[in-house]
Amino acid sequence: MKKLEHIGIAVKNLDESNALFAKILGKPHYKVEEVESEGVRTSFFEVGGIKIELLEATRADSPIAKFIEKRGEGIHHLAFDADPVEDEMKSLSDLGFALLSDNPKSGADNKEIVFLHPKTTNGVLIELCQEKKK
Ligand code: ZN
Repeated sequence: MKKLEHIGIAVKNLDESNALFAKILGKPHYKVEEVESEGVRTSFFEVGGIKIELLEATRADSPIAKFIEKRGEGIHHLAFDADPVEDEMKSLSDLGFALLSDNPKSGADNKEIVFLHPKTTNGVLIELCQEKKK
């Protein structure tokens, strides 16, 4: 892993949380992006080279809706820059970690992403991401 790329936070209302985090961080979010396939609307803040990704569910069967139902709002995942992501997937899978998908998926912020199953990572949902190459 190269570095912590961002921290994902599940929120109920993106607009309210954008205002809240702007107060905390002293600067506004720099983009809002919907990821249709994942059923989420996201926004991004940047602090000292690390991003904060706020995630709001856009439908009831979104993973974010399910997360909030079970655990409430809060930290959802840690995302690490892993380039090339396929190499990192292979070495972690060889070490016995379960991946949530066999191939990287298209995520927000121009990234290819894949998650490690939290049951193999002390309950922490870990995302591996790399910048899309095309
Ligand atoms: Zn993320």
